[in-house]
Amino acid sequence: MAAIAILAPPVTPPDYHRIVSPTLRIPTDSSKPIPVGLLACQRDPLLWELPTTVVSARVSQPVSGPSKAKKKASASNVTPAEPLIEVILHDTVLFPEGGGQPSDVGIITSEDGSTWDVVEVKRHGGHAVHYIRAKSTDADAALSAFPAGAKVGVALGEEGWTRRLDHMSLHTSQHLLSAVLETHLKLPTLSWSLPAYPSTNPGSVELPRALTASELAYVQTLANQHAFEGRKVHVEVSELLDGEHAKLQDVEKIESGRAVGKGVPKDYTGGVKRVVVIDGVDRNPCCGTHLPTIHSVPLFLFPPTTSPAPSTSTSSSRLYFLAGPRVLTHLASMNFLVNSTSATLTCGIPLVPARVEQVVDERRKAEKRVGDLEEELAGIIASEMRSETEKSEGAYVVHKHRIDDSTGALAFLSSISTAFMSGETTKPYAVVLSSSPSSQTPNSTSVVFVFGSDDKLVKEVGDSLKAKIGVKGGGKGTRWSGKYTGVWRDKESTVVDEVLKEVSGGL
Ligand SMILES: [Zn+2]
Repeated sequence: MAAIAILAPPVTPPDYHRIVSPTLRIPTDSSKPIPVGLLACQRDPLLWELPTTVVSARVSQPVSGPSKAKKKASASNVTPAEPLIEVILHDTVLFPEGGGQPSDVGIITSEDGSTWDVVEVKRHGGHAVHYIRAKSTDADAALSAFPAGAKVGVALGEEGWTRRLDHMSLHTSQHLLSAVLETHLKLPTLSWSLPAYPSTNPGSVELPRALTASELAYVQTLANQHAFEGRKVHVEVSELLDGEHAKLQDVEKIESGRAVGKGVPKDYTGGVKRVVVIDGVDRNPCCGTHLPTIHSVPLFLFPPTTSPAPSTSTSSSRLYFLAGPRVLTHLASMNFLVNSTSATLTCGIPLVPARVEQVVDERRKAEKRVGDLEEELAGIIASEMRSETEKSEGAYVVHKHRIDDSTGALAFLSSISTAFMSGETTKPYAVVLSSSPSSQTPNSTSVVFVFGSDDKLVKEVGDSLKAKIGVKGGGKGTRWSGKYTGVWRDKESTVVDEVLKEVSGGL
């Protein structure tokens, strides 16, 4: 994708990673892992690949399985999922999830030249552990490809890079956004979230309150101004001193007791402290991989009314944002939606809201008109039936079948019964009304409505219809209704006639 190539400079500037402590060294002993905090992906976020050495490997135990995603994938897979191998390398360009940034994926090339998929990277204590998918169910065969000391290549690959650039853009933009909110509106970020690629959902920051429309416009303009200025980003690294670890965990809390999200994880044992700096804008402790510049990384804030999900918390508010390549993905999908809607409505895009409003209004009016006409028609049918009653000798027993494609066919039958029963009838009666759609399949539903002058008889008719043609239903008093699944043919109507004939003796 050309847009991606334009967004990121090809090489990380040499002054991006700054060790600010005179005693901190990047370990060079290839039999030991470089701790998380000093990994190649953190020193050089634009590095795609790296030759390195295997420190250790083991078969991953299912109980400590790395991800829910894998469980989902294996559940939908008919063949048993290949086992995962956990590999620790001396150094890596693959970022283990942390600081709110999801894990990278990538490729490892073993000494014999074969390539292996890294499905996830996680931090265990202070080390990055690569979860590699075996090529068969034979875990030991896969394990033998990664003996300690073996020379391997680790790379992001195209998919891994696309994913990383997306995460990195959102993460660095979140630092920028949080800094602008804190500096200019005194609003601390209580937490943040980044849905992992390939999700195109926006990231969000949790704030003590919602922004007004003018504050939102102000923050967005300011953040994009910093991006336009081409503010550089760099990382300052030093040792995490004894006692400092505990202190950094004890971050500022708000009234709800939630951490303000700048602490070092309790289980982190890498011994390194990292501060991510956006020149003149922000300094923030963070372990993530960050773009070396925010130049040309657009930031888009969702106005509160168009936020994808309403805030569930009453004491805080979520501000949704998009940045980098995800802005373009979002733009493309919104463009598709609005274009297809305008094509359906046969109008230009600017007219879409007015046309939709018009269609909704017309539909509301049409529904009301249908309702009024149905009521009128029910009255006419009922009055015709009442005049038939007068002509009949003895009890009035009748079945009437209708064709009706409306979803409210049963309600219409019910309104005929209401109209009929609201008038004076001098003779006893039993009526079955049924209604089927114009085109029927074995899954079609026909509706049946029974009413009469005698509730016992109505129940008897209902029970017979249940027993003889499998109508499912029930009733109360002089009314009974049910549903029939399948194709309603003449055969079913004949059964109704027979049932009515059987019971008519009781009238
Ligand atoms: Zn961060």
